Amino acid sequence: YAKKLGKNNYQFFTPEMNNSAQKYLKLEKHLRRALEQDEFVLHYQPQVDAKTGMIIGMEALIRWMSPELGMVSPADFIPLAEDTGLIVPIGAWVLKMACSQARFWQQNGFPVRVAVNLSSRQFHQVQNQQQSRHPLLDAVLNALDEADLPPELLELEITEGILMQQLDATMDILNTLKNIGVRLSIDDFGTGYSSLSYLKRFPIDILKIDKSFVNDITTDPSDKAIVAAITAMAQQLKLEVVAEGVETLAQLEFLRELQCNFVQGYYFSKPVSSDKVMSVHQQGIFAI
Ligand code: C2E
Ligand code: MG
Ligand code: MG
Ligand code: MG
Repeated sequence: YAKKLGKNNYQFFTPEMNNSAQKYLKLEKHLRRALEQDEFVLHYQPQVDAKTGMIIGMEALIRWMSPELGMVSPADFIPLAEDTGLIVPIGAWVLKMACSQARFWQQNGFPVRVAVNLSSRQFHQVQNQQQSRHPLLDAVLNALDEADLPPELLELEITEGILMQQLDATMDILNTLKNIGVRLSIDDFGTGYSSLSYLKRFPIDILKIDKSFVNDITTDPSDKAIVAAITAMAQQLKLEVVAEGVETLAQLEFLRELQCNFVQGYYFSKPVSSDKVMSVHQQGIFAI
């Protein structure tokens, strides 16, 4: 077969590479169309007050239902969306949907915050001369305006990585958001390589302790010590703490003992569709 292709055809890819490169291209091709073909949905996962069991917020988590590829996990397509820049329009869509959903909940007697994940590409957009504000601020403010949502009901989750890049520009954007009244949290806290001094410099409200520390909290003394240290530090800095990935009652009890403010995880609920959220709400307070 190689002969048939002629002398000038080299095989650049091993079958294995070829396969994964092809997969990547296929994914990209479908991802480019996914937004206009309305293939994304948001699921929501409750954030619960560790003391009272009341739902205080919902994290919006994107889902891609591709007719060709089936359900694709965000872990598989968010990195690609970031590489291709598609995260910018996708991120704007997420903000819009999440804000209008939170407004709907508010109007239906369920005034909870909605938390939206941001990616670094959204911060790295350049503001051109026709734009009076940074494109990310534009996307956030448009979403709030269109939904008529009080900014206090929106929380934006950023990662430590975002705080380490383009310091001045990032600082400006975060200060503006903070002044508007949007709440800011650091996602996957403790897994990045940034210095703790950013907690002082940036207008952060909430730390989300990464689930890798919560997972073995009942059995691994180091993990317990790390979570205890984070919550103690947060208290001193007047930050709130959310623990991610709470799956068992035993974990919850440890976290309550460590004065963690909020908890989120499969123990309470997996991320669910917006339809299901209202029925979760109607069940009222979680028994914990
Ligand atoms: P994340 O923001 O840290 O979200 C938490 C992830 O942990 C979610 O995975 C959630 O379903 C999962 N999770 C929640 N509770 C538990 C638990 O008790 N046990 C375990 N094992 N896992 C739990 P998901 O939905 O697959 O999202 C993965 C990541 O994709 C998110 O991590 C976030 O970084 C990213 N992502 C999701 N939606 C968006 C989005 O709209 N925009 C951006 N930029 N990133 C997003
Ligand atoms: Mg998150
Ligand atoms: Mg994350
Ligand atoms: Mg996280």
